[in-house]
Amino acid sequence: MGKVINIKESRDFLNPDKVYIPLASVNSKYYDLLVYEGDEVKLGEKVAERFGEVKTPIFSSVSGEVIGVEELEYHSGIVVDHLVIKNDKKDTIHEDIKPIEGELTARNIQRKIEELGIKGLAQRGLYTRFEFSKTVDHLFVNAVYQNEPFVKVDPELLSSYQNEIVEGVKLLAKASLAEVSVLVNKNEDDSIYVNEGIKTIKVNPKRIGVWHICAISKAVGKELSHDLLDDRIMFVSSDTARAVYNAVTKGMPVVETDVLVVGDALNSNSHYNIKIGTHVEELVQDLGVIEDTEEVSVYIGSILSGRTMQSTNFACTEFINFIGVDTPMKGEPQVCTKCGRCNDICPVDILPQNVMDAELRMLDNRIFELDVNKCIECGLCSYVCPSEINVLEWVRRAKRRIK
Ligand code: SF4
Ligand code: SF4
Repeated sequence: MGKVINIKESRDFLNPDKVYIPLASVNSKYYDLLVYEGDEVKLGEKVAERFGEVKTPIFSSVSGEVIGVEELEYHSGIVVDHLVIKNDKKDTIHEDIKPIEGELTARNIQRKIEELGIKGLAQRGLYTRFEFSKTVDHLFVNAVYQNEPFVKVDPELLSSYQNEIVEGVKLLAKASLAEVSVLVNKNEDDSIYVNEGIKTIKVNPKRIGVWHICAISKAVGKELSHDLLDDRIMFVSSDTARAVYNAVTKGMPVVETDVLVVGDALNSNSHYNIKIGTHVEELVQDLGVIEDTEEVSVYIGSILSGRTMQSTNFACTEFINFIGVDTPMKGEPQVCTKCGRCNDICPVDILPQNVMDAELRMLDNRIFELDVNKCIECGLCSYVCPSEINVLEWVRRAKRRIK
């Protein structure tokens, strides 16, 4: 990754022609559809329920007509059913959308979060679920934008919903009954959280990959478990705080989100406010592909550890806040020189080069011995590799092998 990408433009894209709402997920491909082809639906209406350990409600992000079910790639890389809704562009709100009535007690806020299926909105592995049945002593909210320091977003662009995030943090403090700290970028001297009197921890995202682990570990004064909830810690993103605000004060499920769409295959880069289910191809067309580009390579999530998608044929969900659209890398694949840099940098000491080797030779027992499940998918191994090997992808494959 070379120069820093500066994002200075924001576009609203809140009226797509259609939305594609994922019905299945990584954990469950089974669902109950509550609407049929030809039905009229409203904004925020419950259109399906996904089965799993608990049922997850699925909501429409627009008002309009149900077109049917279509298979599309999901952010996890698998292909799942999506409900296609033609947007009537009226945003008629469903009558069930109501704020909490009565007192804003911890239990009432928790209930609303559960009712609207809000579980935490970031894709990277470290974030925890909302699980109010467990005792939580510390709640950390991450307000450092994903992909800092490689991508810098002009703070002005994010100011339109700063108030929602701040109020959401206050509601989370009430709901969790825990001490709440917000992780902010070290350079944000006039951070909105500081101004609102919310406890903040300044972190340096230049310490790529592991800064959040270091900051949380330091704040609680101990080493962290693989699942932070075991340490009575909840860790969510600032997007989640915004979702909580909208749930509690308006009764609105997550129907909008924001995403950065950037890349050297595009005419420009932009921050977008979008409806959940917006097709990525629409955003790519909005930005325009550079002339004579024959194919693009697309990845989502973190620049260091994001996932490569098959194509631009997928829909935006609340779990995607970065989409990279680049021209594919040319040249022969590089070979591992066994320099050991990936092994040296791994923050959980699992020897990724050896994992890669064991995966190549399909040595299940060796993969077990190497403790591959401790990998937090920070992507540092790929980042430091002088041969530009996607080491993390090999580690992921090894994890899948012994699942
Ligand atoms: S194996 Fe790679 S991605 Fe996994 S924790 Fe180690 S450095 Fe990070
Ligand atoms: S950093 Fe790259 S070249 Fe070096 S050992 Fe790891 S995989 Fe091989």
